[in-house]
Amino acid sequence: MWRASVLTIFPDMFPGLLGISLAGKALDTRVWALETVDIRAHATDKHRSVDDTPAGGGPGMVMRADILAHAIDSVPPIGRPRLLMSPRGVPLTQERVAALAKGQGAIIVCGRFEGVDERVIAARGLDEVSIGDYVLSGGELAAMALIDACVRLLPGVVGQSTSIVEESFAEGLLEYPQYTRPAVFERLPIPEVLTSGDHGKVAQWRRAEAERLTRERRPDLSAAYLRRQNRTTDG
Ligand code: SAM
Repeated sequence: MWRASVLTIFPDMFPGLLGISLAGKALDTRVWALETVDIRAHATDKHRSVDDTPAGGGPGMVMRADILAHAIDSVPPIGRPRLLMSPRGVPLTQERVAALAKGQGAIIVCGRFEGVDERVIAARGLDEVSIGDYVLSGGELAAMALIDACVRLLPGVVGQSTSIVEESFAEGLLEYPQYTRPAVFERLPIPEVLTSGDHGKVAQWRRAEAERLTRERRPDLSAAYLRRQNRTTDG
């Protein structure tokens, strides 16, 4: 079973939105398992402190290496990567999510305050993962995003497996535009090809639209896609 162990000072935040909808149903039916580790339970003083002032001065507080290491050591790794949610990390991609979903799960450390003492990152081999170029107040939301993205790829979680195969990033492209009833909305009809019943033409249109959207919105993805197709950006 795919297992997520989340180390946090706010265990009550979980399962949170992971307990609802697709991920929640899959949690109930034991497609995956969630465990939280309260980092404060590993503190050594009566105030259960997990942080201290930064060496060298400066604002904020830093999570202590010894307390965090103790919390991490309480979770047997058994073939699971140890991740640290961090804005400094490697940006999360669908490719990485798919690789994580194929494994046995992940041990995920949620930072708070100004971050965590650098020494524990090296000492426990934490792999830093970012969910985007912006700063959240803590790693919990980022961990939930990562877990949600992985869980929906587990067998049986999303109804039709084709909906996973065709969605954004699956082939390095953004998804084509989607339409449903009514046939006309505020004078805007559904593109004719989609109601033609010609599956070949529909597939062709969708591919062309996916390529167009990716070119317009994500030139970086588009260039990589074209390189993989052995084509050049000139055509
Ligand atoms: N001082 C840090 C910096 O400038 O990089 C930011 C610390 S942030 C306020 C606290 C915690 O939130 C981080 O340790 C990390 O666990 C989490 N976090 C914030 N932004 C994130 C992001 N974009 N991706 C993943 N985790 C994030």
